[in-house]
Amino acid sequence: MSHPVAQAAPLRAPLEIEFDYTRSLGPVLSQFMAALAERRILGARGADGRVHAPPFEYDPVSAEPPGDLVPVGPEGTVVSWSWMPEPLAGQPLAEPFAWALIRLDGADTAMLHAVDAGSAAAMRTGLRVRPRWAERPAGSIRDIACFEPCDGPAGGVAGADPAGADPAGADPGGADPGDVTPGMTITPVRLHYMHTASPGESAYLRGLAEHRLLGQRCGVCGQVYVPPRGTCPADGVPTSEEVELPESGTVTTFCIVNVGYPGQKAQGFTPPYVAAAVLLDGADIAFQHLVLGCDPGEVRMGMRVRAVWGEDGVSHFEPAGEPDAMYESYARCL
Ligand SMILES: [Zn+2]
Repeated sequence: MSHPVAQAAPLRAPLEIEFDYTRSLGPVLSQFMAALAERRILGARGADGRVHAPPFEYDPVSAEPPGDLVPVGPEGTVVSWSWMPEPLAGQPLAEPFAWALIRLDGADTAMLHAVDAGSAAAMRTGLRVRPRWAERPAGSIRDIACFEPCDGPAGGVAGADPAGADPAGADPGGADPGDVTPGMTITPVRLHYMHTASPGESAYLRGLAEHRLLGQRCGVCGQVYVPPRGTCPADGVPTSEEVELPESGTVTTFCIVNVGYPGQKAQGFTPPYVAAAVLLDGADIAFQHLVLGCDPGEVRMGMRVRAVWGEDGVSHFEPAGEPDAMYESYARCL
């Protein structure tokens, strides 16, 4: 069953990729972050006498780890800056602010942080700034909510009563050490963008919505690609013919996944499960999909499978209960 490729507008959809990146801080940055939770800022003195803040993990001169860390700041001087007119989600401040390199008092190097100056006109190189501490410390760089001009009204602690705050950091105030995980940091990573599918992918996706598996055939070599890429990588020509493929195929290779991921339970399956390369009958390339519906240990090369449809297309493949395919029938696609 085939017909010429239909021309329809490519599909577009917002994609949001989000995960928490958790890692250990190591011995030096652990001390730096733990001190931030106590509203103190530490630097490291190098072999040449210069004080680096934040502290280095290895001395740029001697390559040795630092000795005892030294207190710096908490006030400092803006060395250079750039205005952020439209803050993005997750940035230190929701209102326009400056990213600045700040040389803390007692340090010879500058650290990057946000400055809440109110307007770009109020920012300048040489501006004296002090930290505005987060109300609840977490042992992270965000324990400094931001910096603020020293000549402005004392804010001191983000979200706290300014009159009761102590920007010099002598009093940890309402700091709750229960929020701090020593030696670890969690960095939320978030990417939000619009994805535009190619015309070939769009046709494939529209087909899935109708429970049809659509590929494209190259007019030169005759190879059938699914999902279609729009061109033949072997011949460099547009794939001119749309092909509807059956729901049956063969497992060419597979792996048993034993490590889960956050949120997986919501998807209805948990490790161990099988991710397989499935070669649909009539296709010349395999695609990746789940093989469920049997013990992972039963899945094998050559196993015959069929598609199980879900709300958004093929939910997974399951054993078709047919005799295994001969190795020669799929060997060219491994
Ligand atoms: Zn070709």
